[in-house]
Amino acid sequence: MKYFFCLLGITFSSFAFSQTAENIIIVTTDGFRWQEVFKGMDSAIANNKKFNQNDSANIFKKYWADDVRERRKKLMPFLWSMIEQNGQIYGNRDLGNKVDNANLYWFSYPGYNEIFTGYPDTAVNSNKYPPNPHTNVLEYLNTLPMYNNKVAAFGAWDAFNRILNEERSKIPVYAGFDKTGGSNPSPVEKLRNDMLEDSYKPFGDEEGLDVFTQYAALDYLQTKKPKIIYISYGETDEWAHSGQYRDYLNAANRVDKWVHDIWDFIQNDPAYKNKTALFFTVDHGRGDEKKEEWTSHNKDIKGSYQIWFAAMGTGIKAKGEVKTPQQLYQKQFAQTIAGLLGQEFKAAHPIGERIDLNK
Ligand SMILES: [Zn+2]
Repeated sequence: MKYFFCLLGITFSSFAFSQTAENIIIVTTDGFRWQEVFKGMDSAIANNKKFNQNDSANIFKKYWADDVRERRKKLMPFLWSMIEQNGQIYGNRDLGNKVDNANLYWFSYPGYNEIFTGYPDTAVNSNKYPPNPHTNVLEYLNTLPMYNNKVAAFGAWDAFNRILNEERSKIPVYAGFDKTGGSNPSPVEKLRNDMLEDSYKPFGDEEGLDVFTQYAALDYLQTKKPKIIYISYGETDEWAHSGQYRDYLNAANRVDKWVHDIWDFIQNDPAYKNKTALFFTVDHGRGDEKKEEWTSHNKDIKGSYQIWFAAMGTGIKAKGEVKTPQQLYQKQFAQTIAGLLGQEFKAAHPIGERIDLNK
């Protein structure tokens, strides 16, 4: 966009680059630590017999390198190539770049509420919390004519039906074992629905395996062309709670691959190419390895409020890993997401301030 200023009789023209995205893809991978994002596999956890699933040779071969930059890229190759080169990555606390939960609880429902409402309400204090009373940014955007009926959410965990208040918000939320395609599923949707139903269910009836979320979301992108889509993966958190470090790393590595797959589709489809932003983050952190607390997270687990985020695409300047000391909060994400689309999120509750990713 081109701005003209007339000041003291002199005309200046400035070519400020303030392009905004028409579409946005929001991705979360539950409880994945900033420590692995920025430092790759942790050798102390990987060597610990309690956590390595008797297979440290495998994870060392796959994910280890002495150099930290090389190591983190082995775990998340898309993040540390395409996103690093073209976007921004926040939350490396070793450099003083801090991103925190503003909520006091450091677990999932309060974290996702904070991401999407921008309001870390202290009343939202349980994963069993009823349908969210607060308006979320996806719901707000869906009320605007240009996004109406062009918003969808996919989550491995069934709580998203409550977190995003599907009934009130009118956004289709495909969560847990929800089927896609309604009463008239396409052959792809029917196959995915049948496989989901017949799949191994290590997390019980509340959460499916991430692969089903990924395939449902990618198929929806390809066939329904939403302007705003949210995709929530859950396995990183589940395997960490089980103390299965190999599975935790492999889950994160798959998420990185799936974000890559989504971005490849985006950049090869005229509906999305060069007019789409990606926002990638997490609901909460986890404890640290020294006390073996990496498996857990809540207000009694030190450091589990520490999170990270990354963004790339239209309207986002290429800065790579952000190395300047600063303090950001998860409650700023909702307004940041709206801002990437050139919109201002309005709701009846306080909303955290937008982070300007265009500078
Ligand atoms: Zn958890």
